[in-house]
Amino acid sequence: MKEFIMPRNVPISFEFFPPKTPEGADKLLTVHQELCTLNPQYFSVTYGAGGSTRTRTLTTVSRLQQTAPVPVAPHLSCIGDSKAALAELLDGYKEQNIKRLVALRGDLPSGQMTLGELPYARDLVEFVRQHSGDHFHIEVAAYPEMHPQADSYEADLRNFIAKVQAGANSAITQFFFNADAYFHFMDRLAKAGVNIPVIPGIMPITNAGNLIRFSDSCGADIPRWLRKQLMAYGDDSASIKALGETVVAKLIERLIQGGAPAFHFYTMNQSEATTRLVKLTGLA
Ligand code: FAD
Repeated sequence: MKEFIMPRNVPISFEFFPPKTPEGADKLLTVHQELCTLNPQYFSVTYGAGGSTRTRTLTTVSRLQQTAPVPVAPHLSCIGDSKAALAELLDGYKEQNIKRLVALRGDLPSGQMTLGELPYARDLVEFVRQHSGDHFHIEVAAYPEMHPQADSYEADLRNFIAKVQAGANSAITQFFFNADAYFHFMDRLAKAGVNIPVIPGIMPITNAGNLIRFSDSCGADIPRWLRKQLMAYGDDSASIKALGETVVAKLIERLIQGGAPAFHFYTMNQSEATTRLVKLTGLA
């Protein structure tokens, strides 16, 4: 594929997780600075279910917000959290002039069974609207290949539509490698009269083992041929990265041609693979 093709006017955003150590936090600032040069619409920062990363998420959001004039969107999950704790977070974010949130249910650590006062993301969206009105642009999660715990594809679609009806403005998908799954999901939404932007979540491929483990746990399908080829490369990290880059750049190309409105990159707090993909596909 040719490098540095014509720039395209498609917004991009980058996701981080809150670092666990001071060294990780310093490294993230460097990654953030590098990714700022790609002119993103915003950065987002994940939030551990049940409030497990509350302080780290807040600290990371504030640091990024103070470092560059690019908006930051905190993720917020409701499972295992109380309405009072979530209200306090919402008020704090509003005071910091944060205008965008990613609202999720979250996944409780195994063994922890307290769902809390808001068991589903739809309930959280409703709560944010009741508490903060229209202050926040709310993103929710979408699953073109179906959420792994959903009773059926249809039930999951109904749940997604319920989140939109509760007040979500747009959505970011779980990562996927099959563009047709995204196009089918979009067709089903259009038929149901739902037309909010649904932004493909893009996972750069840099490490086969991690990708396979992560995909198995979140229900994202790795096509058989790709899984086999990644596994066959074993420890050959250069070949894994080269194959991953080609596959994901082609996926982005197809999604742009099919009308994807923007792209959200799961950076895993690294800049290199994401930067290469953005430049290769002309998204910078
Ligand atoms: P929901 O939309 O509530 O759906 C969860 C499941 O419940 C689905 O199977 C749905 O079909 C079903 N369901 C919904 N409503 C009902 C109902 N009334 N009755 C029965 N079933 C119902 N996790 C984190 O912990 N922190 C993060 O920061 C984070 N960021 C993410 C960002 C993105 C873009 C994505 C795609 C995922 C993220 N996740 C995060 C993971 C997410 O929390 C999990 O996938 C979680 O299992 C579902 O969250 P949700 O918001 O999609 O839940």
